[in-house]
Amino acid sequence: MNRGEPQRASDRLTAALGRLGAIVGKTNTVWPSENESFAAYLHDETYLQGAADLVLKPGSAAEVCALVAELNALRSEFAGEKVKLSFTLRGGGSGLSGACVPDGGIVLDLTRLNRIIDIDAQNRLIRAECGVILSALGDALAGSALCYPVDPSSLALCTLGGSIATNAAGPSSLKYGTTRNYLAQAKFVSAVGEMAEVGVLPAKTSMGFSLTDLLCGSEGRLGIVTEATLRLITLPPAMALLLASFTTESAAVECILALRSAGIGPRSIELIDAYSASLVDFPLAQGVVLMVELDGSEAAITADIERLLSLKIATEWVTARDEKNRRDLWAKRKNISPGIKRRFAYRLGEDVAVPLPSLAAVCASARRHAAEQGVEVAIWGHAGDGNLHVNYLLETADQLPKLDILMRGLAAEVTRAGGAMSGEHGLGRLKRKFAREVLSAQYFDMQRSIKTAFDPQMLFNPALEIA
Ligand SMILES: Cc1cc2nc3c(=O)[nH]c(=O)nc-3n(C[C@H](O)[C@H](O)[C@H](O)COP(=O)(O)OP(=O)(O)OC[C@H]3O[C@@H](n4cnc5c(N)ncnc54)[C@H](O)[C@@H]3O)c2cc1C
Repeated sequence: MNRGEPQRASDRLTAALGRLGAIVGKTNTVWPSENESFAAYLHDETYLQGAADLVLKPGSAAEVCALVAELNALRSEFAGEKVKLSFTLRGGGSGLSGACVPDGGIVLDLTRLNRIIDIDAQNRLIRAECGVILSALGDALAGSALCYPVDPSSLALCTLGGSIATNAAGPSSLKYGTTRNYLAQAKFVSAVGEMAEVGVLPAKTSMGFSLTDLLCGSEGRLGIVTEATLRLITLPPAMALLLASFTTESAAVECILALRSAGIGPRSIELIDAYSASLVDFPLAQGVVLMVELDGSEAAITADIERLLSLKIATEWVTARDEKNRRDLWAKRKNISPGIKRRFAYRLGEDVAVPLPSLAAVCASARRHAAEQGVEVAIWGHAGDGNLHVNYLLETADQLPKLDILMRGLAAEVTRAGGAMSGEHGLGRLKRKFAREVLSAQYFDMQRSIKTAFDPQMLFNPALEIA
């Protein structure tokens, strides 16, 4: 190139991206030419495929601040030019909504921020960086009397940051609540590249808008969470798992309602439809399976089991009180998803949450719509709190357009029932447009105002903003 000759836009962009790469170093920068390792950053656990120009793997909060500051500088340099300069934040990439799937720009892989910083037994708190895999919290607490009770099935795949950004939940959320119930404090990097700290240690606070609550479920749209302090609970002394099968989903839901009316408060109640149950060989007659897990003292569990059996709401209960049997049954439940993945090339896992009395009707309607489209469906999930995974299963890519029709129908049905399109996975890129169709304009105006207050230039996860 001759001196004075204008550089091509793509060369200027490559040089600019190189400045970002210099902050994290060569070994923590992945360019598109590194085909295989780069491709891994373009998807999550959905079928959605994205595109990006660069992947950066910062190793400290200071590097994250420097990256955001440099991104802002680049934005000014390229003002008015059609280049995508934004960050798509990525934790474990285990998402089921396409929220971390990039639509151009730069992927920030946050998994190198993976230190557990402190366990404060007296205050029952654990402090860790955002890239810690959630199961590592349990490992760090092993041998103590404390535990972190939020237990998504993806515990071994997802990060602390991702679980905050999606307000992750799990089977035990029926009794213990979701991530937001445990997030005491969070540090995040703001859109101007500064560290911000929000939250307080006690569970009770009345000091204006709850900023920790805003981060929970924000899908990385407000800031880059780098560190969090979580509240812990005392490990329950004992647990027991009971299984029963039912001929219909309605009968299984009736059973859940009866337990609730009787004042029995299980740790979790999982529903598994007949097709899903048939994949994993439960020790029960075929049909819809309910898994009811109790915890507490041995005496309290015995009393709960006696009360549950006295309700005579199922013909037979299989009871597992010892640790090994209980774990084996949970392993079967957790094998359903991989089993489905092996059989079907494409899966869309909806995770609707509806009031319990509407649950069976929503399942029936999802099945009816799937049958009309000629699509297989498998339903399982955390029925105790009305949160079920409606999985549409496809064998070929040419069926994918049918998913739009099914998502739209389910969104309308769930909203009519007063429920949520997503109970724990988030709207992501996949479900946002359908939310737009069923929720009010005011709802989106308020959401947009909050986004703009934190990230007016749409630096973080811009693919999640819809007009
Ligand atoms: C087999 C399987 C089972 C699952 N079971 C459950 C379940 O029981 N319960 C449940 O809730 N989910 C479940 N999931 C979904 C998924 O694991 C959760 O949504 C999880 O919280 C995502 O965490 P992640 O680290 O993988 O995040 P990613 O998928 O990488 O990202 C998810 C979102 O978090 C944002 N994000 C990531 N890190 C940060 C950060 N540091 N700061 C700000 N934003 C960030 C991303 O931008 C994106 O919007 C399951 C997934 C699979 C594959």
